[in-house]
Amino acid sequence: MKIALVTGAGAGIGKAIAYALAQQQYCVGVLDIDPNAAATVAREITLNRGQAVSLTADVSDRAQVRAALAVLRQHGPIQILINNAGITALTPFKQIDDAHWDAMLNVNLSGPFILCQEVLEDMEAAEWGRIINISSTSVLTGVAQMAHYTASKGGLIALTRSLALELGPSGITVNNVAPGSVLDTVMSEEHLTRMGTSKEAMASRLPVRRVGVPEDIANAVTWLCSDASGYITGQTIAVNGGRALT
Ligand code: NAD
Repeated sequence: MKIALVTGAGAGIGKAIAYALAQQQYCVGVLDIDPNAAATVAREITLNRGQAVSLTADVSDRAQVRAALAVLRQHGPIQILINNAGITALTPFKQIDDAHWDAMLNVNLSGPFILCQEVLEDMEAAEWGRIINISSTSVLTGVAQMAHYTASKGGLIALTRSLALELGPSGITVNNVAPGSVLDTVMSEEHLTRMGTSKEAMASRLPVRRVGVPEDIANAVTWLCSDASGYITGQTIAVNGGRALT
């Protein structure tokens, strides 16, 4: 059984990815900064006859990440990493202070950097690995008042490409999934409120005429984790109902 680690798996998109991978018979490391959220998701997976390990860590803290990975490695080497944990905010550019900028970059970009480094030796030893980074369609379009967020996610796409080149010879693929507007997550509900828009208005502007759900992202990620995707690396797959096309 392959071990898959999903960060930010206590809620939203990460939770859906964790459920989907457990259904595909992976043993899932459910990592979140919120210990109760991680424990709840891991328990639900186990109750549904899947395998899951609850892990608590702040992805931007290398010592915490190392401690969490040591727990997961008791079940076997880690061969799949989904860098999903992220934070967002709507802030006029002039009001983004240094602390705010650093916090965004630390979680959304330094977190994946740390995780990729820390899982690498397992994947290299197996000569097989899958790394999937969750960025955002906002990188492709730009979004006013989200310069710090889009900069962090743009960095993640660049990190993906460079790692794909470096790790390909070791049997490791590195790809990026860029969600559009995915509702039913804490992040998106807060975003809707701040933007003063509604789910229906958002759906009406999309070619497919519906907003995304976390399972849309989980489906793409699950496929990218499979052997069937082995010839795809360094790519950004936008799962956004056609948003960036409009
Ligand atoms: P969410 O806020 O619903 O869930 C994020 C999870 O990450 C939470 O459980 C939270 O506790 C955890 N987390 C936050 N900071 C952490 C840290 N430092 N260490 C470990 N865990 C941490 O968010 P979501 O909407 O499910 O978004 C998931 C990912 O998808 C994010 O990277 C986000 O940027 C991206 N995304 C979301 C949308 C959307 O519309 N929801 C759109 C584009 C991209």
